[in-house]
Amino acid sequence: MVKIKKITFLLPLLSLLAMSMHAQTKFKPEDTEYYSPELRTVTTTANGAPSDAIVLFNGTNLDQWIASNDRNKAQWLVHNNTVTVAPGKGNIQTKDTFEDFQLHIEWKSPEVRKGEGQGRGNSGIFLQGYYEIQVLDNRDNPTYVNGEAASLYKQQPPLVRVLANNDAWHSYDIVYSAPRFNKDGVLLKKGSVTVLHNGVLVQNNTQIEGTTEYIGLPKIIAHGAGPIILQDHGDLVQFRNIWIRRL
Ligand code: MG
Repeated sequence: MVKIKKITFLLPLLSLLAMSMHAQTKFKPEDTEYYSPELRTVTTTANGAPSDAIVLFNGTNLDQWIASNDRNKAQWLVHNNTVTVAPGKGNIQTKDTFEDFQLHIEWKSPEVRKGEGQGRGNSGIFLQGYYEIQVLDNRDNPTYVNGEAASLYKQQPPLVRVLANNDAWHSYDIVYSAPRFNKDGVLLKKGSVTVLHNGVLVQNNTQIEGTTEYIGLPKIIAHGAGPIILQDHGDLVQFRNIWIRRL
C-alpha cells in the first residue's frame, strides 16, 4: 500500500520530466543563440582606463574637478601622478554629474600615521554627492565597523576588512545604481552599491537607506544626477587613477 502511494506521488513528476526532455529534443542549438544587437567594443590596457571610460584624474591636472564650497578651481595638490587632499581647502567634486556608473579609484593613507579611529587617514568618496564610501587608514586602527574603510558610512560595514602592506595603494571598484524618485520626490527604488576593495568583494549589492549622516539616521532626499565628491577630512590622503563608466 505504501509503495503504491509513493508511485502515485511520483507519476506527475516523472511525466513533467519526460515532457521537458521531449521539448528540449525539439530545439536545435541555434534556436537559443542570437547575434543582434551587436556588442559595443571596449578595449583595455593593463593599468589604464577602459576605452569607454571618462578619465577623471590621470595624474596631471584637476581639470575635471572643482572645489565644492565655491565652485572655483579645485585646490588640492597634484604631484607625482597623484592628488593629495589639501586640508582646509574643502571637498572637491567632479564637474560632470552621473547616475548609474562603474567607478575605479585608488587611494593611499598619509605617510605620517597620526590620530586614531576616524581621525586617521580619513577621506571618502561620495556617490552622487550623498552617499559616502569611507576611506580610512585601517591598519591597526579600531573604530566602529560601519565607519571602517569601504563601509557605506554609518550604514553598512564592509563584508571583510581588507588590509594591504604598509604604505600600499588601495583600489576601490564601485558599481552604483542610483535611487529613483518620481516627479513628486517619492522614492521608487533604493540605490545600491557593490564595492571591490583591492579586488575583494566588500559591499555586495548593498541597499542604500538614504544620505550619509554623521549624526542621526539616513535621510531620503530626492535628487537627479550628481557628482563624485572627494572628502577633505583634514588628512593627507592621496588619490590616483580615477575613471568612471556611465552605465
Ligand atoms: Mg570619510
